[in-house]
Amino acid sequence: MFIVEVINRMECLYCKGKMDKGKTTYSINRRSYHLFIEDVPAFVCKQCGEPYFGEEEVDAIQDLIQDMDKKTSAIQTMELAA
Ligand SMILES: [Zn+2]
Repeated sequence: MFIVEVINRMECLYCKGKMDKGKTTYSINRRSYHLFIEDVPAFVCKQCGEPYFGEEEVDAIQDLIQDMDKKTSAIQTMELAA
């Protein structure tokens, strides 16, 4: 989940727990593919484990997703050579 302003308050949106720098696995299910990125730096709630990503990480991930969208649709529109 991408909530940058929560990081400024350093308080979990769900349980008001304290957050710590850590790493987490980012996952997203798109229509044509499923993506898991391991060891993404994030603030992680000590209490419930909810991860919050920083702006730079969000930008980089969104960049990657845009690229993946283009490249997967390129694969899907390929024609088999007979
Ligand atoms: Zn929490």
